[in-house]
Amino acid sequence: MTTSARVAAGPPRLGVWKGLLLWLPIALLSALTPLQVLQSGDQPLLALAALLAWAVFNTFFALMFITGKTHGFRAVLFILVAVSLPLDFIPYMIETYGSMMLTEATMLSSGASFCPLTMPMILLPALLKRVVIFPGELLPTGAHGAFSVMFIVWVGSSLALGRGWCSWGCFYGGWDELFSRIRIRRRPLIRNIDRRWIYLPFAVLLAIVLLSALTYGPVYCEWLCPFKIVTEFQAPSSPLAIFQIATFVSLFIGLVVVLPLFTQRRIQCGLFCPFGAMQSFLNKINIFEVRIDTEKCSGCKRCLRSCPTFSLDEGSLESGKPLFTCTKCAACIDACPKGAIAYHIKGTQIGIRPNVARGLFLYPAMILMSFIGAGIFTTGLFRVLRLIATGSMI
Ligand code: SF4
Ligand code: SF4
Repeated sequence: MTTSARVAAGPPRLGVWKGLLLWLPIALLSALTPLQVLQSGDQPLLALAALLAWAVFNTFFALMFITGKTHGFRAVLFILVAVSLPLDFIPYMIETYGSMMLTEATMLSSGASFCPLTMPMILLPALLKRVVIFPGELLPTGAHGAFSVMFIVWVGSSLALGRGWCSWGCFYGGWDELFSRIRIRRRPLIRNIDRRWIYLPFAVLLAIVLLSALTYGPVYCEWLCPFKIVTEFQAPSSPLAIFQIATFVSLFIGLVVVLPLFTQRRIQCGLFCPFGAMQSFLNKINIFEVRIDTEKCSGCKRCLRSCPTFSLDEGSLESGKPLFTCTKCAACIDACPKGAIAYHIKGTQIGIRPNVARGLFLYPAMILMSFIGAGIFTTGLFRVLRLIATGSMI
């Protein structure tokens, strides 16, 4: 492969001025949050954190527009968000409940914050019996403002990005991405995984939807969520609770740390998460997709090796389409030495004006990242600044 072929990878660079012009609307829109915090004026450290978060997110957004590259900049922000979540959430739990281990009474009184990953489990019971089963008790739908807000965010982001949620909106996926990008050796220790494993999340999804509707309990939260150990969980007050905690720890170590380290892929996101599986169906109602221009493709398979969620196979190179599990992360787009892969608007001609489709995709993606991610990064950073200033995060 020649050097000039490498330079041609991905969509063409927009250049500084054009890039900055495209970035400006996002910069202005995302400035609303720090401005609101500044206006309230009662928390100088929070205002500083909000300003820093705006600056960090917008530097990376601007770089995406200027350089034409997406994946590396997106991944840094995605990881920052995931790591920031427990930096705020755990001190919040200690501040409010005295511990990140909730008692059964707090669980049953819905003391925990609402999480979008519960969406597949709560929809059926909410439709059938008009109750919201989170975190472990039946409550009237009207009692959950947090549920309504998260529902609107979920519907909006699904319409705008489909499974793009899993690389732009999810505040847990960055953990998986972090460990998949740590190189303990140049080539992955585990290189071959049977591609049929990509169907496992759909089996998990079916199981938790049915079991949650039957038991009126959030089965995934109670038994299978690896991210419980970086947020909150039920106190080990019974053998059953101890078993649940041991399961969460094992799943986190196995699916989020060890297997991503060994495979350099996002195993929890690609091969287990039922929420991701549900988002795959929502790709169907979304106008954006990733497409391969089969005329330009040289068959080098670099994209297959770069995809963190096993969403490309040899059939994709022939059909020009990734599998329906694609999270629109842009790793393949940036890796392709022929510039053959691009964001695409369904129904338009392949390969025509890829920068227009990319720009139209990046706006909702960046808005989602600003709305969810920059907010979480702000509160995590605030706790760190408070630790530096006062010696305590609480
Ligand atoms: S689409 Fe994939 S296989 Fe084809 S040239 Fe690009 S990286 Fe290589
Ligand atoms: S097919 Fe490309 S955009 Fe889709 S998940 Fe794989 S690397 Fe990311």
